[in-house]
Amino acid sequence: MTEILIQNADTVLTMDDDRRVLHGADVLIRGGEIAAVGQGLQTGGEVVSGRGCVLTPGLVNTHHHLYQNLTRAVPGAQDALLFGWLQRLYPIWARFTPDEMFVSAQLGLAELALSGCTLSSDHLYLYPNGSRLEDTIHAAREIGLRFHPTRGAMSIGESDGGLPPDSLVENESAILDDMIRVVDGFHDASEGSMCRVGLAPCSPFSVSRELMRDAALLARDKGVMLHTHLAENDEDIAYSQEKFGCRPGQYAEELGWTGDDVWHAHCVKLDAQEIDLFSRTRTGVAHCPCSNCRLGSGIAPVRAMRDAGVPVGLGVDGSASNDMATLSAEARQAMLLQRVANGADAMSAYEALEIATRGGADVLGRPDCGRLEPGKRADVAIWDTTGVASSGSWDPAALLLAGPIQVKHLFVEGRQIVRNGEVTTLDLPRLLERHRSLARKLIED
Ligand SMILES: [Zn+2]
Repeated sequence: MTEILIQNADTVLTMDDDRRVLHGADVLIRGGEIAAVGQGLQTGGEVVSGRGCVLTPGLVNTHHHLYQNLTRAVPGAQDALLFGWLQRLYPIWARFTPDEMFVSAQLGLAELALSGCTLSSDHLYLYPNGSRLEDTIHAAREIGLRFHPTRGAMSIGESDGGLPPDSLVENESAILDDMIRVVDGFHDASEGSMCRVGLAPCSPFSVSRELMRDAALLARDKGVMLHTHLAENDEDIAYSQEKFGCRPGQYAEELGWTGDDVWHAHCVKLDAQEIDLFSRTRTGVAHCPCSNCRLGSGIAPVRAMRDAGVPVGLGVDGSASNDMATLSAEARQAMLLQRVANGADAMSAYEALEIATRGGADVLGRPDCGRLEPGKRADVAIWDTTGVASSGSWDPAALLLAGPIQVKHLFVEGRQIVRNGEVTTLDLPRLLERHRSLARKLIED
């Protein structure tokens, strides 16, 4: 089995159960697994120098809409509130085809990889013009990132009083059939899996109560995870109370949407009772600080969630509402926002990095990821701290205070995806040209 030794790293943030921080240490990769972490390790295989570098587990992205990479900074959506933002973008997304879905996913995953991400989920909830979930799965397979796509859905269109145009919504029985198809076709439950599929109606407002309930039953039957948007902003809470007569947490609980196999994006407006519910049921949260800032949604109570034991990971959210999917920068923003809300000692750089790695892995049900320790998957981010962004730093391992925000090297399942700051698994200039030409076509139409 091939071995790679990352030798003599200045610092290794293991994120193991003791949160050990090692200096002058090595990480030995054998096949797709971490074989050893410590000093003076030997190999007959390849050696990668860790000198001048900080090693962390690969970062984990728990919420994204990869298809949105073709609609960044769209005029008319740049400064709009959530509903106006959606109404500007829906007609553009309605023109997408499988080609847009594939190219957009590859570009988005490349962007994530460069910022240290080794495992990403994705929430694809519209399927125009023959698009399918596997358009994104093929993209992830080519670039080599560990991928947790979710089969999203919308079923309440304009003619039923919903927000999306009718052309972007689907019939609920067809949605359930396709959920079964993609789980049966692509979900791999095994340890070290590179692809796990989840079920993810877009939000409680874009599908019926029955579909929320049926998706939960189907997920339990198939042993896959559930994901949706929840309690994103004040309008969200008001809508829930008016339409369902309860808060989002109660609605989720009634329909089977709590448990350690469920994670909800945003949760900016969870109250104390809902935080307690999430803590008791081990329901996860995908915290998306930049998107929450961008759309003016508020500051999620992450300090209170973490103190209560709620599993929290990070998400860049879709590129139409961030619009920069740099996961390392997201971790920094998470740290800064908790300080805005709760004071300078509310969250350390190390804690934010823990949320970005181990925290996200736990939210996605992947205790085999997010840690640098023997037996875990060989997902490793290597950060060069000898450059401009971290020069003068007294503690380069506090990566989120000074830089860098992009990796030098990145390994996923023991395979090198980024080498010296370049993606190794695809022709990035060619991909960028294709991506730009698709974007131009959308703008001109
Ligand atoms: Zn989202």
